[in-house]
Amino acid sequence: MSYPIAQFEELALSPLLLQTLKEIGYESPSPIQAACIPHLLAGHDLIGQAQTGTGKTAAFALPLLERLDLTNHQPQVLVLTPTRELAIQVAEAFQSYARHLPGFHVLPIYGGQSMTIQLRHLQRGAHVVVGTPGRVMDHLRRETLVLDGLRSIVLDEADEMLRMGFIDDVEWVLEQTPEDIQI
Ligand code: AMP
Repeated sequence: MSYPIAQFEELALSPLLLQTLKEIGYESPSPIQAACIPHLLAGHDLIGQAQTGTGKTAAFALPLLERLDLTNHQPQVLVLTPTRELAIQVAEAFQSYARHLPGFHVLPIYGGQSMTIQLRHLQRGAHVVVGTPGRVMDHLRRETLVLDGLRSIVLDEADEMLRMGFIDDVEWVLEQTPEDIQI
């Protein structure tokens, strides 16, 4: 059995992220965070399964933030979510964990929101894009979202996306990503 991780300090996260975790009152990693963060930091692919409310968002957001190159304004992380509500929630979580990362930008894109506004934000550049499959496909087809610099893709609530019939859309998006990205 592996040694249980009791402290965020044991997870090789940078001082800026550790400071944020202290400020937002996270005292120790939840089991899914302790299990996932080292593998995601190492760039490995991973499937994580845990109940809602167990800290899954931070389990992928923290290590992916750690691996960002903030000087590169192309999207480096794409998170697909089944609903616009989850897209907004995940984007807010990234924003909150990245509060001390200089110049960090996250952008939620989802159907029902003005395309023009999303276009303007995409042109400005975002390190992390969080979106629903349909709207992400729209932007990819128009080439207003370019994934040349993508390093990681997250299928958040993948089971729910499958249940909602997004399998073909998700597969299509995966085909548009560079080879060898982290999933
Ligand atoms: P999630 O499962 O990602 O939706 O997270 C559920 C809730 O737990 C959110 O309100 C998070 O802010 C909170 N949370 C996540 N990780 C931790 C942690 N290590 N310690 C305390 N709260 C946490």
